[in-house]
Amino acid sequence: MTEDATEELTYSATSTGTRSILPDDMISVEEARKRILQQFSRLEPAGIGLLDAVGQVLAEDVVAGFNIPPLANTAMDGYAVRAQDTAGATYDSPLKLEVIGYLPAGEVYAGALAPGQAIRIMTGAPMPEGSDAVVPFEETDEYGSEVSSSTRTSVRIDVEARPGANIRVAGEDVREGENVLTAGAIIGPAQVGVLASLGHDQLLAYRRPVVAIISTGDELLRPGEPLSPGKIYDSNAFSLAAQVSSFGGIPKILEVARDSVEALRTRIREGLASVDMLITSAGVSRGDFDVVKTVLANEGKIGFWTVKMKPGKPLAFGTFRNANGRTVPHLGLPGNPVSAMLTFELFGRAAIFKMLGKEHAWERPVIRAVTKERIRNTDGRRFYARVILEEEGGKPVVRLTGPQGSGVLTSMALASAFAICPEDAASIEPGEECDVILADRERSFYGPLRTTTAIGY
Ligand code: AMP
Ligand code: MG
Repeated sequence: MTEDATEELTYSATSTGTRSILPDDMISVEEARKRILQQFSRLEPAGIGLLDAVGQVLAEDVVAGFNIPPLANTAMDGYAVRAQDTAGATYDSPLKLEVIGYLPAGEVYAGALAPGQAIRIMTGAPMPEGSDAVVPFEETDEYGSEVSSSTRTSVRIDVEARPGANIRVAGEDVREGENVLTAGAIIGPAQVGVLASLGHDQLLAYRRPVVAIISTGDELLRPGEPLSPGKIYDSNAFSLAAQVSSFGGIPKILEVARDSVEALRTRIREGLASVDMLITSAGVSRGDFDVVKTVLANEGKIGFWTVKMKPGKPLAFGTFRNANGRTVPHLGLPGNPVSAMLTFELFGRAAIFKMLGKEHAWERPVIRAVTKERIRNTDGRRFYARVILEEEGGKPVVRLTGPQGSGVLTSMALASAFAICPEDAASIEPGEECDVILADRERSFYGPLRTTTAIGY
């Protein structure tokens, strides 16, 4: 398969780069993704601040340098006692102990507990020497009492304490020398918390890829510029940059390349300098000004495919070598705003995940859902319908977002999922089931994590 891909990649370099699209050039989404991923590998590890690493992959084992908690401490506000001193205490026949001190969290008691003595102690404070149990306030005369002070000299114990009661032992969470996190772990909030609990403010993670984004087209204006006749705003650079960062990469939007080979070549050379991936949008179909293919063919190694998907048929993919001799893969996305986003969702996301070292995690959850509307497939390519996923009678259902043209970007903005009409199906009729990719779980009313009862937990 590697040989096939290489062959495909070099094909157009020796041709004009503008060969016509034949039906048998069409490859499946899976095949295109496989060929693309072959050109990417995990990036090198780099040190990074804890909070900046969320979504990255740990590149080292993390071994605990000390116990957590470091010392046995109380899990409750109450009185540190010797359990044997409380033997037989009940609400009907309570006992009295002498209070010899007060211990807030963050301090260590200097003395030790002698028989008949207690120390008023706050949650998290280390157990004083000589004590082996904590009687919570609720089981003393502090409960419901107005007389709650750190200066009291005695306490009434209403309930007998067993040794170890309400104590968190040293090393309960983490033991010194233990391998707490293993290389390969994906950093999420809990991993950040664990590292912080070990005193780390930095970690080693596979670096985030920097992705250069070049829009091409004479018609494009940047948001903020005044609109003029014949022009449109460049939305692709922004939707794609937002995708890059939401997938874990670092976007770098370059200036728009006008529709000339020269302009695009200049931009691409500029973009290659310090990036891990280059994406362009537009200029890959068969229009008069579709220059991406030409530049790719002349400057790099190009694979130009038509992928059996809709939206997003034309897709250029290739590699460039930058001035430092590094290979930079290039994804030449279609210009239509929905096609650009959808192809980047299907191919760019996987590439970024692979560079981050979590190739296994790029896939979105897929569920089966009933369509409420007809989803039509017009030309034998896999159709990704933009849908709203809802729940009806406890079952997931989908409705189209509205018109499905590849220029209707609002269809992406409304969608919480993509419903798939397979290559070999002419349509999915209302009431029939189909595969649905959960693209945006937060905005889905129904998802695999949703319970069927009214109580969420
Ligand atoms: P092309 O591939 O250059 O023929 O572009 C296909 C369609 O996408 C045309 O209608 C373009 O105007 C539109 N298009 C191309 N680039 C962008 C962009 N960056 N933002 C919004 N629309 C675009
Ligand atoms: Mg164009």
